[in-house]
Amino acid sequence: MTAMVKAEGVCKRFGSLEVLKGIDLEVQPGEVMCIIGPSGSGKSTFLRCINHLEKVDAGRLSVDGELVGYQQRGDKLYELKENEVAHKRQEIGMVFQRFNLFPHMTALENVIEAPVQVKGESKALARARGAELLEQVGLADKAKNYPRQLSGGQQQRVAIARALAMQPKLMLFDEPTSALDPELVGDVLAVMRQLAKDGMTMVVVTHEMEFAREVADSVVFMDGGVVVEAGAPEDVIRSPKHERTKAFLSRVL
Ligand code: ADP
Ligand code: MG
Repeated sequence: MTAMVKAEGVCKRFGSLEVLKGIDLEVQPGEVMCIIGPSGSGKSTFLRCINHLEKVDAGRLSVDGELVGYQQRGDKLYELKENEVAHKRQEIGMVFQRFNLFPHMTALENVIEAPVQVKGESKALARARGAELLEQVGLADKAKNYPRQLSGGQQQRVAIARALAMQPKLMLFDEPTSALDPELVGDVLAVMRQLAKDGMTMVVVTHEMEFAREVADSVVFMDGGVVVEAGAPEDVIRSPKHERTKAFLSRVL
């Protein structure tokens, strides 16, 4: 089986700041990986590398068997052009801490924007599928609402529906509930939990340890640009081996 995400010695620096110092990990199709770790440890940068938003400086990073940023022809590697990168990025859905919805568009318009504008899907088809997606995230009755008329949790669920509308093979979540009021977190996690059950491959940066413990197939603890500890959720969260993992968990649990 080809891994959906495979990182081998992935390094990334910003000027003299080494942010990723040789990340090794693998996510199989249908698996959920949760990445935990303190602020500044490189979690967002790693997700951005997977999604072609940053270039890795060393090591190999591949998605679904293809080296990120490159195309193989015969035994030669070619760097992807900008439009080719944009095309690749369509295969990956990303949800950020801030919902980034288009403020002047309704929930449904937000969801159908990319399928219509980028993929050239017919409006009728996109609307029908968009309505289904809004139902899937529990917002069937909010299709005509504008973002400002929705709670943060509802906006985040629209953002998830919008990412799913492009039928991605991989979903990346970067602290999707960190900006939400506590009482709104549960609904967003419930949508993500269902998505995982339905077989979506997901990489989730989160501080929600309960979610990680229940939903993740593997948990990775990152600190200072390295993977300190990785394994089954029970092992990493319940019985961490490394002092740094223990110290972090004692702060967040
Ligand atoms: P995390 O998501 O784990 O909090 P980040 O990946 O956002 O960590 O950041 C890791 C480090 O890289 C931080 O020190 C941050 O300031 C730095 N960093 C992130 N993006 C950039 C950038 N575009 N330019 C310079 N430094 C950056
Ligand atoms: Mg981050």
